[in-house]
Amino acid sequence: MLTMTGVSKRYDTGDLALNDITLTVPAGQVMALIGPSGAGKSTLIRCVNRLIEPSAGKVVLDGDDITRVRGSALRLSRRKIGMIFQNYALVERLSVMENVLSGRLAYVGFWRSYLRRYPRADIQQAFHLLERVGLESMFDKRGDELSGGQKQRVGIARALMQNPKLLLVDEPTASLDPKTSRQIMRLICELCREQKLAAIINIHDVALAQQFVDRVVGLRAGSMVFDGHPSELSPAV
Ligand code: ADP
Ligand code: ADP
Repeated sequence: MLTMTGVSKRYDTGDLALNDITLTVPAGQVMALIGPSGAGKSTLIRCVNRLIEPSAGKVVLDGDDITRVRGSALRLSRRKIGMIFQNYALVERLSVMENVLSGRLAYVGFWRSYLRRYPRADIQQAFHLLERVGLESMFDKRGDELSGGQKQRVGIARALMQNPKLLLVDEPTASLDPKTSRQIMRLICELCREQKLAAIINIHDVALAQQFVDRVVGLRAGSMVFDGHPSELSPAV
């Protein structure tokens, strides 16, 4: 589903943030990306959603060469990527339902007018996703009335509303307590397997990642230093 080939990134400052990364994440696989601060995790994620352009190498998502597409083709490719954030990035004064529906319009402007006349099929899908994340009874609550775990459930439903092929997940549990963190990780990983989504989860908590993911990739100073099953991970990484 996602293939990175020889991807490197050198920032204008001269920092080599990614050094010749080659990896494939097949549909249905959940990969955790771990490594110390500054290792290049955010840079890798930003090369995949093309917030930055790699200095070398190729990123192919679902057949689209992300490193070459521009303009509207890039927007279409990005729609295949669902993003889940550490701080949820909800619109707090909109309802849970509206937040989920807004996922349909990620990267497209004018979503405010869309919210006034969204298609019935979209509402049904949003409601179905809210059921799947366990929030159907809260569809009309405002974003700012939710707990952190509930906000992240909305964030997950919003990402899936896009019918993505790939989920990019940035520190999904960094603001949550341990029990809620486990519930959220379990939910993300179950949904990826059910819907055959590839996922890259940038995560600090290695023990938590190990419990749920299929694969761990370790970065250090921009290079890949580990790629394997979570059970093969030594405590030293
Ligand atoms: P985190 O580890 O939480 O991802 P970082 O400290 O790596 O946070 O980055 C925070 C922001 O600062 C990012 O948007 C990144 O682009 C920017 N940044 C990080 N390092 C540098 C740097 N050396 N020069 C310029 N911007 C940087
Ligand atoms: P991580 O997400 O693992 O903390 P980053 O990808 O944020 O790592 O950073 C990797 C390296 O690239 C670090 O040395 C950081 O300082 C540098 N870096 C990150 N963003 C920028 C930026 N916008 N400009 C210059 N250097 C950056």
